Amino acid sequence: MITDKKTSMVCVRNVHKSFGELRVLNGMSFDVMRGEVLAIIGPSGSGKSTMLRCLNFLEEHDEGEILIEGEPLGYRVLQDQTRIRQTEKEIARLRANVGMVFQSFNLFPHRSVRDNITMAPISVKNVSKDEAENRAEILLEKVGLLEKIDEFPSRLSGGQQQRVAIARALAMEPKVMLFDEVTSALDPELVGEVLSVMQQLAEEGMTMVIVTHEMQFAHDVSNSLMFIDDGNIVEQGAPKDILHDPSSPRLKEFLFRFRT
Ligand code: ADP
Ligand code: MG
Repeated sequence: MITDKKTSMVCVRNVHKSFGELRVLNGMSFDVMRGEVLAIIGPSGSGKSTMLRCLNFLEEHDEGEILIEGEPLGYRVLQDQTRIRQTEKEIARLRANVGMVFQSFNLFPHRSVRDNITMAPISVKNVSKDEAENRAEILLEKVGLLEKIDEFPSRLSGGQQQRVAIARALAMEPKVMLFDEVTSALDPELVGEVLSVMQQLAEEGMTMVIVTHEMQFAHDVSNSLMFIDDGNIVEQGAPKDILHDPSSPRLKEFLFRFRT
């Protein structure tokens, strides 16, 4: 158990989650090692977003354990399985380790790109304004948008807004980045610029969990690919095996429908 915690950046153990009567996660267990990229595919409603949201405690799991770099997130589970909820302060600290980017960019519309990126580090992490602004410039350079630093989000394309959203998440210096269908709302010609920023992050060694419908991208960028259905992991393995040689009927059907 201890060695397991040491090598694993994200450790999910038997996580269950229901919304009322609806069982959405039925005992998910997986690890993402430091520097690795896990891609998650699966039909709509299978629990992909819920799983990601649990990874930074936007949703609270009902059962099981989530560890980020060995530290329990949300609850401590005692030997006798009693769960103790962490304090809000502890949760806020742990949550800052996990950056998340959504399909809808969720930038603050009345704030400049610069402010969008510097606000959280200044208010949550007590970073000085100067340092936050320096870092914002470095991050915008990285996502290819330094010249947009004084713009408002509404003046940017969807692809540019999404790249700002990625820079904003990175500004908190997370240990893990989660991406939930971040290109699904984009015009097709803008998808590539966002994927290439993600690819670059992966190459730099960022630990990432990516929910996507971009199969070729998932194949190219991930170390491990997981297919989930009905809140269960149906198959997980090397991307080429999962995509080219699926063993379960459900995955075969999913991939078939996807291609047609
Ligand atoms: P996916 O991302 O794979 O499409 P989700 O994780 O968003 O799936 O949703 C899984 C199931 O949980 C769906 O049936 C969805 O309607 C339901 N669900 C998601 N969030 C909530 C919520 N906050 N309250 C009630 N039901 C929810
Ligand atoms: Mg979803």
